Amino acid sequence: MTAKTATPYISKSKFLWGQQCHKLLWAAYHAKDRIPPPDAQSQAIFDQGHEVGTLAKKLFPDGIEIGQGVYDLDEVLRLTQQVVKARKPLFEAAFSHQGGYAKVDILNPVAGGAWDLIEVKSSTSVKDVYIFDLTFQAFVYAGAGLKIRRCILMLINPDFIRHGDVDPAKFFVRHDVTDRVTAASHRIKPRLEDMFRTIRLQEEPDVKIGPHCDSPYSCPLHDHCWNFLPEGNVTTLYRGKAKGFKLLADGILNIKDIPDGFPLTENQGIQRRVAVTGQPHVSKPAIQAFLRQIKYPVSFLDFETFATAIPLFNNTSPFEQVPFQFSLHIVRSPDSQPEHRMFLADGRDDPRLEFLQRLHDWLPETGSIVVYNQQFEQSRLRECCQLHPQFKSWLTGVETQFIDLLKPFRAFRYYGPGQCGSASMKSVLPTLAGHSYDHLAIQEGGTASLEYLRVHFGDVPEAERQRVRRALEAYCGQDTFGMIWIVEALQGLVPQ
Ligand code: SF4
Repeated sequence: MTAKTATPYISKSKFLWGQQCHKLLWAAYHAKDRIPPPDAQSQAIFDQGHEVGTLAKKLFPDGIEIGQGVYDLDEVLRLTQQVVKARKPLFEAAFSHQGGYAKVDILNPVAGGAWDLIEVKSSTSVKDVYIFDLTFQAFVYAGAGLKIRRCILMLINPDFIRHGDVDPAKFFVRHDVTDRVTAASHRIKPRLEDMFRTIRLQEEPDVKIGPHCDSPYSCPLHDHCWNFLPEGNVTTLYRGKAKGFKLLADGILNIKDIPDGFPLTENQGIQRRVAVTGQPHVSKPAIQAFLRQIKYPVSFLDFETFATAIPLFNNTSPFEQVPFQFSLHIVRSPDSQPEHRMFLADGRDDPRLEFLQRLHDWLPETGSIVVYNQQFEQSRLRECCQLHPQFKSWLTGVETQFIDLLKPFRAFRYYGPGQCGSASMKSVLPTLAGHSYDHLAIQEGGTASLEYLRVHFGDVPEAERQRVRRALEAYCGQDTFGMIWIVEALQGLVPQ
């Protein structure tokens, strides 16, 4: 059933890499040093997947863990053989076939000497890549002589709401995907053979960058392969990735070099004009109209949130965004200095009630509330008010005060060199107002969430916790200060 092969195995993760790109697959065997270790965000996703996997195993209390901490693949094959006859649920049981090497999360014995393959995913929906993942594993297991009855994806129940301890029987939903796996099974053998041909190449295959670099996952060689592109390259065309790759194939790297007559949308045309002239595009009447909506006192507001697969608190769903911080700058009149208010939850309790209470106490009842991407803040407030309905009528008033500062940028009422096709505040702030996040220890929201969770729910020395809390305050404060700078810069562009 298991033969030691002279050539290396292709594991499931390598197979999926090869499915995405043969250049990546080749690098995994010939240029491992080119592949960077996972960044903090990717590592957090892995860790979360591991937590979810551990919870799923509780559904199989007599399950046997195989090869934990053993890195020799042949040794794990051998260990599997030692226990497979026991006909117990097996976690990460390893089998190989035709050079493919698979370790499904759970191999569950069923009637007639058969097995169900169960793959656990930290996700609420079936994705094509999961089907291919299971199809590869089923190919290996069946080829290794196992009788497979069903192939199952064990996913997170999107309707789960935590009440007390998380019950895995309610947290997970099983999706029987046997038919889809069977339908895709003929694709595995030729692809595996193709991948082995790539692995045997002395030189890396010449694969051009393209949409596959970000699908289904962001490729770990992204920086390596994309670093030849200059700033303002054609892949940054607004909603124009496919066009960008077509232009690249024609040898056009820079947006400013896009020939006349090439079909561009209105916003892409603005991008090209700004790239050619080096001057920002300013639609003065539209910006004037936007600014006229802003009434004093002006409140600049920004939230930070985290989301975990396994909810940390009662009355919370998987991946629900839980707000843990806000920054609020209030400018009461055109001549007054901004007043700053900040909330950053402490401890390990659900922060949402205090979050709402502080906001309720501090937000002025009149004037405008300026946010960047209104939908985000509004959705979080609505969710919190579902939980604490005593704030619902307050929220009704608040929602009439919202002004979305993202809108003029998303509509290209202003577009400056350096925005690279993005309307995000991180892109707009440097180009329009000359400020950036570069000096901050925390520079984006994803890191803010991870750091918050790490120092509040992990075992971290107090000094480190305080350092991170200061960094979080600086980061969120910069978001609201940034909005003030952006509004001031817009005011400077148009007569008041
Ligand atoms: S970045 Fe793109 S071209 Fe480069 S290895 Fe990854 S998927 Fe392939």
